[in-house]
Amino acid sequence: MSQFWSKIVHELNPYIPGEQPQVANLIKLNTNENPYGPSPNVIDAISAANSQNLRKYPDPNANALKSAIAHYYREFGITSSNVFVGNSSDEVLGHAFKGLLKHDKPLLFPDITYGFYPIYCDLFEIEYQSVPLREDYSISIDDFSLENGGIIFANPNAPTGLALTLAQVESLLNKHKNSVVVMDEAYIDFSTGDVRTAVELISRHPNLLVTQTLSKARNLAGLRVGLAIGDATLIEGLERVKNSFHPYAIDTLALAGAVAAFEDTAYFSQCCEKIKATRAWFSESLTQLGFDVLPSHTNFVFANHPHKEAKALFTGLREQNILVRYFDKPRLDHFLRISIGTDTEMQQCAAVLKRLTQAP
Ligand SMILES: *Cc1c(COP(=O)(O)O)cnc(C)c1O
Repeated sequence: MSQFWSKIVHELNPYIPGEQPQVANLIKLNTNENPYGPSPNVIDAISAANSQNLRKYPDPNANALKSAIAHYYREFGITSSNVFVGNSSDEVLGHAFKGLLKHDKPLLFPDITYGFYPIYCDLFEIEYQSVPLREDYSISIDDFSLENGGIIFANPNAPTGLALTLAQVESLLNKHKNSVVVMDEAYIDFSTGDVRTAVELISRHPNLLVTQTLSKARNLAGLRVGLAIGDATLIEGLERVKNSFHPYAIDTLALAGAVAAFEDTAYFSQCCEKIKATRAWFSESLTQLGFDVLPSHTNFVFANHPHKEAKALFTGLREQNILVRYFDKPRLDHFLRISIGTDTEMQQCAAVLKRLTQAP
């Protein structure tokens, strides 16, 4: 507390990120980082940029990165004018809250979704209303049929791992043509079947903004790069906010690394496939131990055990140097969220959970 704080600062409840403990041999399955390092091309590109000169400012428009992203999504008619990039997707989301989601009707999001949204609402003084998930933790599109100044949720959702299909996202868009709908696709590259990126819908829905991050499926949580794709007018709105706040948001090294990450599509697909395969057998092992595992479209699983307290399992894992995420909140406190690591890490995690669940 300080007399020098503004009124808003007094009232903030800042986001608490998952722990990043500096403990040797820790199996870290608590923040959905990718267990595999980035493509070797990313490291080469960063080293090359490093030995050029850091004396100068980077390109404030990050054009090379916008082009690489537009090229990646070219089949959907995306060009650079549809792409925004920022220093993490948290920052991109912040610009969207500030520039696109503050109107005189409440912003809607599910009661259980990415924990940052209500925090941005407080920071930017945006009125919001949370819409409860169904009993089974899925999102009901019909429950969003309320007057609103915008809609946002993570698809796939966090921390549930459940997702709407592309057809369901489009039916939501068809019902809300007069407000901005933001789909936070931090985990979309781990999805399967009819759950696909909504980037494909942008040409038909000028009110849709899709955000993504390089932190999860592109192995680069340390680089801090995120992006948004949408109609050029939405992107221009984000640019106006960004250029009123942090014009050089993407630094020289991040720019070089992020371009290389988008260009190495083979490495990217290979990592995503490995994680999906690990997720499949790990989910199955948890089911065999008696857990209920929500079907995951992400690089984590959300699971609860009918006879064992999640908090005790969390502590038991931690004693064996395995860190997972436990949320001490209503509706979430009987679950563990476990990020998908390497096969070896997940075998160890499953072995400890077997002991903990079979102990009397
Ligand atoms: C991880 C995550 C983000 C943040 O990504 P960064 O680019 O690392 O800031 C945003 N939304 C959701 C749903 C996430 O899980």
